[in-house]
Amino acid sequence: MYQAKAYSVTSATAPFTSDTIQRRETTGRDVQIEILFCGICHSDLHTVRDEWNSVMPTTYPCVPGHEIVGRVTKTGAEVTQFKTGDLVGVGCMVDSDHICPTCQDHQEQFCHNGTFTYNSPDKHGTAPVTYGGYSESIVVDECFVLSVPTNLELAGVAPLLCAGITTYSPIRRWGDIKGKKVGIVGLGGLGHMGVKFAKAFGAHVVVFTTSPGKKEDALRLGAHEVIISTNADEMQKHMGTFNFILDTIAADHDINAYITMLGRDGNITLVGAPETPLQVSAFALLFGRKSLSGSLIGGIAETQEMLDFCGQHNIISDVEIIPIQQINEAYERLVRSDVTYRFSIDMASLKAE
Ligand code: NAP
Ligand code: ZN
Repeated sequence: MYQAKAYSVTSATAPFTSDTIQRRETTGRDVQIEILFCGICHSDLHTVRDEWNSVMPTTYPCVPGHEIVGRVTKTGAEVTQFKTGDLVGVGCMVDSDHICPTCQDHQEQFCHNGTFTYNSPDKHGTAPVTYGGYSESIVVDECFVLSVPTNLELAGVAPLLCAGITTYSPIRRWGDIKGKKVGIVGLGGLGHMGVKFAKAFGAHVVVFTTSPGKKEDALRLGAHEVIISTNADEMQKHMGTFNFILDTIAADHDINAYITMLGRDGNITLVGAPETPLQVSAFALLFGRKSLSGSLIGGIAETQEMLDFCGQHNIISDVEIIPIQQINEAYERLVRSDVTYRFSIDMASLKAE
């Protein structure tokens, strides 16, 4: 084992402080990665503040971060896909059992024996739970390491590892959205990537936002129309007209208002994960045979497909780069939806401490 610098919290109400964690030695299929940038996902915040306690309680100390981009510094003897110096990414998962039908189907995110990048029991026994990317390095099985296109700015690539795949996957799963009316609800980290992908696949993209100040930006990002969701008249005009809606809202909200936006056989897919259950009106779904789905990140093969697509189409996340020392302030801004549109931590700031 070796020691790595990290930022952690010790309770749901404690601020982040500088810490030292244990990482395992690089053996077998392991890849050791020097982390260059790590995005701040709202899931990090939900976990740090133990907001998902009823489903996935948080073990402290907690080192979040699952939007990791870095450079390979060491490889185990059995590694075949990566070599020292390669640019790589790690997303929300670091292991699965590889043998269950779900893994065989390349949907490792649903494996019952899977390991998330942080706050999962650590199968290697290095620590009680896995520690994520708010750290100077990480050691990951090569099956969960992604190749990063070399033509993209790395700070903006990091968020692709979660916000990117989480929006890419349900949009692809819906089918051919070319010419379809697609709604993206919430213009945050996930939402702004949803806009970019829906636009890239040829949809008519409409953003629903609670923040009037984001209207111009939504259009710049590729939206064709923007609806201020608190304006009843604007909402009324679009009722019953959408083919597909992606809901990325991180907090409790009235989902029925968006279900009624769908046309016949329309689908709304939830990727946002508010801490409290949403109330769904049966009637909103029945009339028009509408469906409500959920989606969780994407499999490893699909994540690589998404990264390659981003490389070909020059797609990255819009980021505000911060030193890790500003993390507590960044979290407060994330709660206020005051981010354009993802914080990306420059890990050189941690090395310099
Ligand atoms: P984020 O950057 O905070 O964006 C969420 C957006 O939701 C905000 O920018 C805001 O957009 C809107 N919003 C926030 N509070 C709201 C409220 N009370 N009412 C209405 N709208 C509100 O968060 P994120 O990182 O994109 O994550 C979004 C959610 O997805 C989180 O719950 C996260 O845990 C979850 N998530 C799920 C997966 C998955 O695999 N399913 C993966 C990653 C994240 P406007 O200002 O435009 O209204
Ligand atoms: Zn995430």
